[in-house]
Amino acid sequence: MSHARAAALASLFAAALLGPGPARAEEPPPTGTHPEVTADDFLARARWLSSPALEGRMSVEPGAFRASQYVADEWARLGLAPAADDGGWFQPFTIDLPRLAPGNLLEVRAGETTRAAEVEQEWNPVAASPSGEVTAPVVFAGYGVADPDRGYDDYAGLDVTGKVVLVVRREPPRPGGFTERATFRRKLSEAATRHAAALLVVNDGATATGGKDPLLHWSETAGMVPGSATIPFAFVSRAVADALLAPAATTVAALETRIGRDAAAKPASFAVTGASVRLRVAFERRRERNARNVAGILVGADPALRDEVVVVGAHHDHVGRGWFGSAAGPAAQGQIHPGADDNASGTAMLLELAEALAKSKDRPRRSVLFLSFSGEELGLLGSRHYVEHPLRPLAQTVAMVNCDMVGRYDPARTLEVGGVGTAVGLQALVEAAAAPYGLKLSYDPQGVAPSDNTSFFLKKIPVLFFFTGIHAEYHTPRDTADRLNAKDAATIGALVLDVTRTLSDRDDRLAFSQPPAKTRGRAALGIVPSPGSDTGGVVVDSVADGGPAAQAGVRPGDVITAIGPTLVRGLRELQQALAAAKPGDRVVVKVLRGGAEQSVEVTLGSR
Ligand SMILES: [Zn+2]
Ligand SMILES: [Zn+2]
Repeated sequence: MSHARAAALASLFAAALLGPGPARAEEPPPTGTHPEVTADDFLARARWLSSPALEGRMSVEPGAFRASQYVADEWARLGLAPAADDGGWFQPFTIDLPRLAPGNLLEVRAGETTRAAEVEQEWNPVAASPSGEVTAPVVFAGYGVADPDRGYDDYAGLDVTGKVVLVVRREPPRPGGFTERATFRRKLSEAATRHAAALLVVNDGATATGGKDPLLHWSETAGMVPGSATIPFAFVSRAVADALLAPAATTVAALETRIGRDAAAKPASFAVTGASVRLRVAFERRRERNARNVAGILVGADPALRDEVVVVGAHHDHVGRGWFGSAAGPAAQGQIHPGADDNASGTAMLLELAEALAKSKDRPRRSVLFLSFSGEELGLLGSRHYVEHPLRPLAQTVAMVNCDMVGRYDPARTLEVGGVGTAVGLQALVEAAAAPYGLKLSYDPQGVAPSDNTSFFLKKIPVLFFFTGIHAEYHTPRDTADRLNAKDAATIGALVLDVTRTLSDRDDRLAFSQPPAKTRGRAALGIVPSPGSDTGGVVVDSVADGGPAAQAGVRPGDVITAIGPTLVRGLRELQQALAAAKPGDRVVVKVLRGGAEQSVEVTLGSR
């Protein structure tokens, strides 16, 4: 049992004795108790940041603002100087998320009756939907699945041109579970390629059980770029669907039973005579600054070097209640994703590092700029904003040290240190610093990773990325503070502190270098994935010029849904698919582009 677990259990025990009073949610944020990086302070900070009161720290929600305020308050207490343009701590920026606008309308016209269903109560537009309005008759198209392998086609003999297509979530039940054909994305592309006017999806009986009928939230990306669908796309309650089916004297449940399961499944599609829908989808995009980075600086001791800065960074945001970016499936949507490892751990470490350096008797020679980023989970947005609007000149930024998921060290899996190929001598510097600590390290030369160091590397700044690895709780409601390994996190913190000191105290700065293209023979696609795309596919953020994906015609905005035989629903599966392949392999990569699925053949490169 690790120290962390023991401490967590002790605190749970205390909570059990004290009962569920208001104390936990109202607990003030912890200040550091020791100037050194300590396991206790690290854990107290990470636990508060991942507590229910912060609701998963989604960038544009109050929890992320509380987290960023905590970071600023701590830095002020420690004597750092505020480093933002207005002389304050915060660097605000805008996250371009769709937001429900006034005017959404779903009018159910069945027989003689017309009724407006209430948005957010009985139906939701889906984020991928374009804004727009259609009025059209309704066609029930089963599960909206056409599967030649199974000899099953909900669209056989059905004309849906110009119609509103109503389909059931998932697939006819089958042994072995669901396939890619069950995804929202695929249903949308099947309907759009048949020239449907709009698509409505309703929960299947397995999802709507125990009196519950969870409505897909309008902010859910469902693996698609918001606004990228070509036809209006909405999610409706079982009651709304039943109202549309009433003129045919049937219900969704009855039709599911009629279709049946396994090899006996037979489509039961039909045009619902007497039913039509008027659907208006209205999304607007945020224009105001709705997220913020935190910036604090410890001015260097050496007048000749203090204009140069070492950036130490970590993102404080996470995926909130999992409406986007959850790796735990639809059942977890609406639940708080605490993000204790991702990235309360890195934020806690950032605070411990600032404390240790601020309280140290000998100040670093160069300045150390601490940055706590927001918007990371939505696509490295905070760090990208920073490098486009730097608070200290990028030319004088000698290195960027990033901590993202540093709380789950397991000696069997090593501490991964990325970016060691981005400057001459950088790996040797880390190796020398790590020698006293007894940690098992593995090195990756690349500067591109699904975290904020990427933004700095793309500006040709040497980077380091400290990371204790992906785990089963990644991006789920189970990424909780009791699972953190605080004892080893403190050791990692001491190492990062030494590395930061060395970078800031050495006479000369390390020269940037492009990492070697081929070092370990690992297969690579040559894309930067968007980290906020863990639901139903991986959105391509950017494509390396001349790389394998670029040569095959993959474009930014494409959603990768499969690589070879591996269905890709998130970053983890993308990594697994690449780990299973070799450089030089030719693989079929399925991508969704503008609502339609395409296959491209990619010859994998190496990294
Ligand atoms: Zn992270
Ligand atoms: Zn994350």
